[in-house]
Amino acid sequence: MSTESAAPAARVPFHPMRSILLHLSESKRLAPLMMRNPLSRRVARRFVAGEKLDDAVVAAYAVNQAGQSSSLDLLGENVADEAAARRSAQNYLAIFDRIAQERLESNVSLKLTQLGLDLDAALCEELLAGIVAHAARYANFVRVDMEGSPYTQRTIDIVKRVRARHSNVGTVMQAYLYRTEKDVRDLLGVGCRIRLCKGAYNEPPAVAFPQKPDVDANYVKLMKILLPSGVYHGIATHDPAMLQATKDFVREKKIDRDQFEFQMLYGIRTDLQRQLVREGYRLRIYIPYGTDWFPYFMRRLAERPANLTFFLRSLLPRRA
Ligand SMILES: Cc1cc2nc3c(=O)[nH]c(=O)nc-3n(C[C@H](O)[C@H](O)[C@H](O)COP(=O)(O)OP(=O)(O)OC[C@H]3O[C@@H](n4cnc5c(N)ncnc54)[C@H](O)[C@@H]3O)c2cc1C
Repeated sequence: MSTESAAPAARVPFHPMRSILLHLSESKRLAPLMMRNPLSRRVARRFVAGEKLDDAVVAAYAVNQAGQSSSLDLLGENVADEAAARRSAQNYLAIFDRIAQERLESNVSLKLTQLGLDLDAALCEELLAGIVAHAARYANFVRVDMEGSPYTQRTIDIVKRVRARHSNVGTVMQAYLYRTEKDVRDLLGVGCRIRLCKGAYNEPPAVAFPQKPDVDANYVKLMKILLPSGVYHGIATHDPAMLQATKDFVREKKIDRDQFEFQMLYGIRTDLQRQLVREGYRLRIYIPYGTDWFPYFMRRLAERPANLTFFLRSLLPRRA
């Protein structure tokens, strides 16, 4: 695997547009403008299943038919008041009911700032515990997404406390953070299921690797710590090099294909999604839906500058 070759990797910084787009993803002024604009709504549909739970159910059903499982994410983050946090929690209870009703092969992903982490950590923990207990009644699972680095420690702490009561909750580790290896070992110590991703937020070099090859090398290193642990983890990436490194490692270590799953985002690299299923790997598709799609959409644009060109082109008037 190139990321682990003896020669030092070339220094490749992230694309300069990445941090601009990630910065804009937090703009409270741009969000309503984009969300009202019919053209940007149309482009966002490439990454978002729709605005209603019904749309997500249709998408999850199609994903299941294609031999993949799913994780439903009701978009939303950084809620402004307790009522909104409680509404999000109620919505998540209803999602689990609907998953069971429709017999979908799906769990859910959520963000703690959607449950009020910015407002009151105790409230957030209480709401998460309620959702996890509800999911346990259906033998289902809650994945707590990882947000920007100011939330990392608080997310880990809350997940660990809730997990001590109900084991059907796990979280996400981001390979771009220097601290992640230590966090991975800490969470493995309590048997926590982990989704490994590269990381999608705007982080300063003080906390995260600024060069892509270092993030990739750390990703491979962490994957090799996670997969032999005996805990069921998710390897979340669309990067062919990360996929290959994982396939090579599990073959070498004789790790069964049902001991872990690959995970990808709805609408991204569907060619690779189909290929993994053809090859007999487990794959889960993260399906976001809801009206609050702006920050999620901007993070997807930031990951691939070509998406921005596609988006800007779609805003231009069409020639007859
Ligand atoms: C299931 C899942 C859950 C995630 N959860 C979190 C989370 O909780 N917290 C978090 O910080 N991040 C999360 N992420 C996002 C992740 O951190 C990365 O930002 C994202 O996956 C891109 O990294 P990559 O591994 O695909 O590799 P990259 O090196 O970024 O991309 C590799 C290749 O994948 C393709 N690709 C990647 N992104 C896109 C895109 N947006 N559009 C089109 N093609 C693309 C391109 O072909 C690209 O060359 C999640 C990702 C997945 C798949």
